[in-house]
Amino acid sequence: MNTVNKKYNIVTFGCQMNKADSERMAGILDTMGFEWVAEPEKADLVLYNTCTIRDNAEQKVYSYLGRQAKRKHQKPDLTLVVAGCVAQQEGEQLLRRVPELDLVMGPQHANRLEDLLQQVFDGNQVVATEPVHIFEDITKPRRDSKVTAWVNIIYGCNERCSYCVVPNVRGVEQSRTPEAIKGEMAELARQGYTEITLLGQNIDAYGRDLPGTTPEGRHQHTLTDLLYYVHDIPGIERIRFATSHPRYFTERLIKACYDLPKVCEHFHIPFQSGDNEILKAMKRGYTHEKYRRIIAKIREYMPDAAISADAIVGFPGETEAQFENTLKLVDDIGFDILNTAAYSPRPGTPAALWDNQLSEAVKSDRLQRINHLVSIKAAERSARYQDRIETVLVEDQNPKNLTQVMGRTRGNRLTFFPGDIEELRGKIVPVKITEVRPFSLTGEVVIPVFNNG
Ligand code: SF4
Repeated sequence: MNTVNKKYNIVTFGCQMNKADSERMAGILDTMGFEWVAEPEKADLVLYNTCTIRDNAEQKVYSYLGRQAKRKHQKPDLTLVVAGCVAQQEGEQLLRRVPELDLVMGPQHANRLEDLLQQVFDGNQVVATEPVHIFEDITKPRRDSKVTAWVNIIYGCNERCSYCVVPNVRGVEQSRTPEAIKGEMAELARQGYTEITLLGQNIDAYGRDLPGTTPEGRHQHTLTDLLYYVHDIPGIERIRFATSHPRYFTERLIKACYDLPKVCEHFHIPFQSGDNEILKAMKRGYTHEKYRRIIAKIREYMPDAAISADAIVGFPGETEAQFENTLKLVDDIGFDILNTAAYSPRPGTPAALWDNQLSEAVKSDRLQRINHLVSIKAAERSARYQDRIETVLVEDQNPKNLTQVMGRTRGNRLTFFPGDIEELRGKIVPVKITEVRPFSLTGEVVIPVFNNG
């Protein structure tokens, strides 16, 4: 296939894992000679990297696909690809629904894109959703940021949360070796990256599938050991990780985050519900008491740590009293950020088949009430930054105010302040916070005063 002057566009839906996969697939298309174009309607190859975590996320891709399918009738050499979790979930059915598609590929096949496209260019319609071992990438991802980078450390999830489609669409846990992860981070440092976010659906499961146990009988490779192992890479100034699971969260990890200066004091630990009966029905494997103990332990070591989480309201059978237990936990803990969602029945998940589903009216009422509380608590949490000096890693210009740059504190709070992006990009600067909002801050750079006295 002659890719000269051929343009490509990738539209990404969903989570950080999908964003990281899209960056890798973009890197593959770059090496194949395709050229990135920002507008899908100008592309010769359009790839939708999809999400199926909730029904509305899944439905989004079909409207996009409809437009491109029409376009293909005028432009037969247009290549249409659906990747990600909807592709894995639907597989062949997607070809029946959108016959104009050329390639349907699951998340595990992201780094096989060149090989799969070769089959398409040989005249085939291809579906790649069979479980595979994910080999190390050789291509250089096309990363959105020049300052911060995602690094996958474990793919898939072996948990069986009763509402979650991820294990069905992303497969079993596959950890990368510590050496491969450190190698990728060192290469990123050479390219001038300052911050790395280590990624995993259930990042606390890292290493469970790798060989080796310690004399004490625990897994030799864990997230905690990995943080110590990758901490000494010159040039990498900040390390973050997501997404944690309360079932496997250890004090050993908390202590490592306290000990290791580069590891930022921000923890993303979804709790999903504040009611033990609902947590049991969700098959989450912990109680709200255990969750509270984890947060208390983090705050014992790092009182100012930022805590973010995810919560689901309107789970099948959730009573008003059980919902109020969730509100109580949100009120007691005070999250810096809480991502909330109304329960959405997903294909192939146990909870979707239960007959005690709640009405959309009840679900949206509860979503409204929890979101109201979330912004009150976030404003309370943000208030602690007023007049403080925070170190901010400058990532970009503020698109809404070109006299400002933007970046994040160690606590992952988005912060805006006057500055020149060409001068400050990738720098960690001290910023005095002059204005606080529930989910972001404004400040001014602190100019160091040299006392020549
Ligand atoms: S831990 Fe549970 S909610 Fe998270 S990805 Fe795995 S199955 Fe889904």
